Amino acid sequence: MVAVSSGGKSPILARQLRARLETLIPASYGRLAEMVGQYRDVVKGKLPKLSMRRRFWESILQGDVADHVLSGRDDLGQQALQAALDAVHVDELQTGEVYLVGAGPGDPELLTFKALRLMQQADIVFYDRLVSKEVLALVRREAEQVYVGKQRAWHKVRQEEINQLLLTQAQQGKRVLRLKGGDPFIFGRGGEEIETLAAENIPFQVVPGVTAASGCASYAGIPLTHRDYSQSCTFVTGQLKQGELDLNWSALVQPRQTIVVYMGLAGLPVLSQQLQQHGLAAETPAALIQQGTTEHQKVWVSTIADLPALAEREQPVAPTLVIIGQVVRLHNTLSWF
Ligand code: SAH
Repeated sequence: MVAVSSGGKSPILARQLRARLETLIPASYGRLAEMVGQYRDVVKGKLPKLSMRRRFWESILQGDVADHVLSGRDDLGQQALQAALDAVHVDELQTGEVYLVGAGPGDPELLTFKALRLMQQADIVFYDRLVSKEVLALVRREAEQVYVGKQRAWHKVRQEEINQLLLTQAQQGKRVLRLKGGDPFIFGRGGEEIETLAAENIPFQVVPGVTAASGCASYAGIPLTHRDYSQSCTFVTGQLKQGELDLNWSALVQPRQTIVVYMGLAGLPVLSQQLQQHGLAAETPAALIQQGTTEHQKVWVSTIADLPALAEREQPVAPTLVIIGQVVRLHNTLSWF
């Protein structure tokens, strides 16, 4: 039974919604529910833990059994269900798994189908500061949500704690979702987190996400490469170590190249000064993109020489990405968002 109400605000809207739901949910779902109901107690007897039963039923309701019943072959459906029940091993349903998933730069529509599917079957989610609340809202509602956002100073300790948390939760048989902003393998420490798992033989999957460079570039109308302006693109971290930036400057200042700087806000003065010192023209175009792909996105275009003053004046907030190179000029004509 599905009920739809608009709380008296718009019965027509409710009717339209009902019509849409009817096309989405075939009437044969009722028969499927009936059959599942008959097996509930048997399954409970065989699989003592709720988490095991949930996993069993999820596979049943997505697989053959459901297909048969929905296409009117209830007998075959029942046989398949019985066969699945006979074949099920408690051990198999007890091993946990970790999903290391890229949540993209903010706009939830930039999630992959795979990310969404795994988000929908997680028992617990560990997320950080960069994961937007719109994306978080798409995680399975019953999943426990744990914020593990890091602050710069106690970075290291925290990271080890997170690695450990993922491990122990998976060892308890849970499906653990590690949701990270952008792509987990780009300045995301995703590699470190799964190394611990690999060492302990915990199964895991990695799902790429739209990294900030792609997301921000697209939504700011700045192609990262362009036949006329740039033949390569380099991603670097602008995070300061003891007030310095340890980058391969001579490689960065090569012509016809786009440089994307992650975590570059605090180090902007050093970045600007070093690039110029190593030969990049002061008037090279540069853009700051704040909270790209979200409704709070802001784009400022300037030159590498003026970046620090611009940031001082406009006070962009994190997360902000820096894009440097001739392609930045295209923002004027290609910006659309
Ligand atoms: N794994 C992430 C990057 C993590 S490092 C990815 O692939 O995108 C964090 C940095 O990413 C921030 O300091 C900022 O420079 C950048 N960033 C992430 N999301 C962003 C966004 N929506 N807008 C602008 N910059 C973003």
